[in-house]
Amino acid sequence: YSKKNGPHGYSFYFDELQTDTQRVLLLDTELRKAIEKREIELYFQPKIALKEEQIQGFEALVRWQNDKLGYVSPNEFIPYAEDTGLIIPLSELIIERACEAVIEMKKHGYGSPIAINISSIHFQQQNFLESIQTILERYNMPASHFEIEVTERTVMNSSNETVRKLVKLKQMGFKIAIDDFGTGYSSLSYLIRFPLDCLKIDRSFVQHICLLDEKQAVVDAIIQMARRLKMKVVAEGVEQVQQVEMLREMNCDIIQGFYYSKPLPLQEVIEFMEYWEMEHQGRK
Ligand code: C2E
Ligand code: MG
Ligand code: MG
Ligand code: MG
Repeated sequence: YSKKNGPHGYSFYFDELQTDTQRVLLLDTELRKAIEKREIELYFQPKIALKEEQIQGFEALVRWQNDKLGYVSPNEFIPYAEDTGLIIPLSELIIERACEAVIEMKKHGYGSPIAINISSIHFQQQNFLESIQTILERYNMPASHFEIEVTERTVMNSSNETVRKLVKLKQMGFKIAIDDFGTGYSSLSYLIRFPLDCLKIDRSFVQHICLLDEKQAVVDAIIQMARRLKMKVVAEGVEQVQQVEMLREMNCDIIQGFYYSKPLPLQEVIEFMEYWEMEHQGRK
């Protein structure tokens, strides 16, 4: 037996196991269907350049609402898709959706770059570069509209193949950012070896930055180091004005977090840009 919290009190461990298995099966069939029927959406979270008080761009975050499963977090279905190979068609769909978003934003007169999260599984595919290039060509979309976010897991494999792909992506016009910086591989050698534009400091460092001297020290050091390496720094997960003020003092370039906005559907992103423009006109 296992004790379970909540209104149902006790339940059999076996039941729980079965429920888990059923959920995974359902997740599998539903995710396959969703990719095929293109029922996967992107939301966009603004990134704000502190000094300029400008929208520097947006991060595209995948969203999946399913009839049977309800809202499924990318923290659940992305790892599952990575384990099953579904990540490849999913990732391609995400890149296509990002192209569609750029086209829609342009229609409204906005040209902010969009950051796309790329799974290390997709990145490591032999034909990754071709797959991304094919999509851009189909949409007639220059790579310069995009930034690619990879995690430390992707670059910890410091092979010639990884270097080759990153250099090629740069040549194509993509910017490259390291996501969740500080939480993965502990070697910093890849910062020197690879052509990187941006470090995104993980939310776990930003979270108690106002309370804990240790976190302050780490964030400050990352910002200094990035500056010397001529890289931009984004602080992730910024929720409070005190955090903004502290990061401003530390000369952090860009802020992303609920303080400015949650991730928004495309139509609301366009409204956010209009609102931002109105609020900030005449102040520059
Ligand atoms: P990530 O790339 O580090 O994205 C940042 C996550 O932090 C997002 O969660 C975002 O909604 C959340 N966030 C942003 N600001 C705040 C804040 O102020 N406070 C808090 N508590 N959270 C904040 P989300 O959208 O649930 O995505 C989770 C992770 O799933 C992402 O982490 C990324 O690793 C993965 N993911 C999301 N979309 C994609 C995608 O299109 N492709 C791939 N390969 N992975 C994705
Ligand atoms: Mg990201
Ligand atoms: Mg992150
Ligand atoms: Mg994350």
